[in-house]
Amino acid sequence: MAETNKGGIKVETQHIFPIIKKWLYSEKDIFLREIVSNACDAITKLQRLISLGEVKGLDGKGRIDVILNRDDKTLTVSDNGIGMSREEVEKYICQIALSGALDFIEKYESAGENTGSGIIGHFGLGFYSAFMVSDNVDVQTKSYTDAPAVNWTCSEAGDYEISEGDRAERGTTVVMHITDEEAAYLSDAKIREILEKYCFFMPHEIYYTLIDSENESKEEKKECTCGHDHDHADGECTCGHDHDGEECDCKKEKPINDTSPLWQKNASDCEESEYTDFYRKVFNDYREPLFHIHINADYPLNFKGILYFPRLNHEFDNLEGQVKLYYNQVFVADNIKEVIPEFMLMLKGVLDCPELPLNVSRSYLQNSAYVSKMSAHIVKKVADKLNSMFNTEREKYEQIWNDIKVFVEYGCMKDRKFYDRVKNSLLLQLTDGSFKTVDDYLEKAKEKHENKIYYTVDKNAQAQYVSLYTAQGIEVVCLDKMIETQFISFIEQDKGIKYIRVDADIDDSIKGDGETTENKELSDLFVKVSGDEKLKVRYDALKDTEIAAILNVSEESRRFEDMMRMYAMSGGGETMKMPLDQTLIVNTSNEAVKKLCARPVDEQAERAARQIYTLALLGQRQLTPEEMKTFMNDTLSGIASEL
Ligand code: ADP
Repeated sequence: MAETNKGGIKVETQHIFPIIKKWLYSEKDIFLREIVSNACDAITKLQRLISLGEVKGLDGKGRIDVILNRDDKTLTVSDNGIGMSREEVEKYICQIALSGALDFIEKYESAGENTGSGIIGHFGLGFYSAFMVSDNVDVQTKSYTDAPAVNWTCSEAGDYEISEGDRAERGTTVVMHITDEEAAYLSDAKIREILEKYCFFMPHEIYYTLIDSENESKEEKKECTCGHDHDHADGECTCGHDHDGEECDCKKEKPINDTSPLWQKNASDCEESEYTDFYRKVFNDYREPLFHIHINADYPLNFKGILYFPRLNHEFDNLEGQVKLYYNQVFVADNIKEVIPEFMLMLKGVLDCPELPLNVSRSYLQNSAYVSKMSAHIVKKVADKLNSMFNTEREKYEQIWNDIKVFVEYGCMKDRKFYDRVKNSLLLQLTDGSFKTVDDYLEKAKEKHENKIYYTVDKNAQAQYVSLYTAQGIEVVCLDKMIETQFISFIEQDKGIKYIRVDADIDDSIKGDGETTENKELSDLFVKVSGDEKLKVRYDALKDTEIAAILNVSEESRRFEDMMRMYAMSGGGETMKMPLDQTLIVNTSNEAVKKLCARPVDEQAERAARQIYTLALLGQRQLTPEEMKTFMNDTLSGIASEL
């Protein structure tokens, strides 16, 4: 029996298997990744020796076979890599791999079962992880040298035997005898699923075979429609080729993996459609992503990857993206939040980081200086991409702006460096649908309303206000998302400008030169019909004569209310009801107003005042049912008295 002394604690081999089984309950699937990636490494090693000229006369073309044999209840992984001699098996499998596994277990034993399993689920344990699912494991190997072949077999109890083997071909075969408890790993679908998840981009070709004589005989063998002799169970040719007269190649074996994933190529060699296909394949998202960033970070960072900005259907879409982490094309983990800054978590993509040690915990990632440099590099790349689209693909950039702006703006508020990088590529959308930068807007505004940006949050509901401005050639910007009201405060501070909602103020340029007279009696009447004691009433002669009155809410008072509403929405309890600071601007250029000013305050005047006030209120909000009823009655009485 093998014994290993580690750090003064004597751990006997026989103890390791129950520990492996007990601990690694949550993500057992990784055993196959470990064994297949060892096979990949063995091929890479041989290829390196060949390329260095240390081995001559060998064909280094790698091939890995994964064979699920349901008859024998085994799962076999076979490679034509470097192989091992007897001494190497003793050293690498019996000592190094074992002590590595023990190391791993000791390290995470202290982390406790729960945290431990989460971490182990993502990061590898090595050769011995085969014992998570098997009781016996056999290794048949033959070194690329002329050393004789070796058989090694090890039982769950930790006993192993080494003997001379009869393997003729160079390489290694690992046969895992799946335990009854883990019979799930004898399922064809399960093995395919694991291979797809973990081995899909491994760098050497992997072929998968299912041996299942019992089920095979049950399958009906029909003639294939392609005219060739196939054993298709469903009778249809699934090769997907149009082989008129050509030889059908559906019998040709195809590897289950893509050995040269797109991220390994140079961005300049990749077609746009390749990025979309890759995205669809990896994320099963049929939608086209909005844009992508191909990262190829050199020394000292050394990582590659492709990140996509997904198309989000609406505000309530799941905003969580998905960044898959690879280690030299071996899948490591699915959602490494630590590497992506919080405000870019909706990104989807792949990152291949050979610099990150495989056996790392999440806390390592959280505290690693390397990871924060990676994250900063990603932020820089996203900013570069936005700037380059702004400069060279303006049309496309404008098309996607409304989809990305919330993230860009949120990112600006979260990360000053990001803001500094992209601030000249931020867009404003005007009510006519066109786009402008803040600077361009301000440039045009210089003469009429310096350093003021007029905006609306709903250009349809506020159409009346908007047209007051646009009619005078003042551009109005559309803001629509909650976050933008926070973002404008941020920009105001940074640029020393003011955003003013169209219903907050009356710019001098929309006022005409008509006469304005105060009318105390009429003001009191408006206060009375509004039911708002604090309502201010002002008289202005507007250029637009068709509007009788407009109701303005001061910018501060409305922003405060927005803040309170957001606070309440985020669970801060009841909204504090603060009276809004409202001003009714009565347009003395309007015919109806002129008449109203000239007549005594009586019942009819009160009705007219109430109607004028209600029309102004409609620009602010919907009417309550009572308000609506009164408005309809007033209107009808007006009609009746006129007829
Ligand atoms: P690691 O792969 O992290 O080194 P493992 O426990 O997975 O640790 O494997 C230990 C060692 O066993 C490997 O480093 C390698 O030398 C040897 N080994 C494992 N599988 C193979 C294989 N398929 N072909 C050749 N050598 C192998």
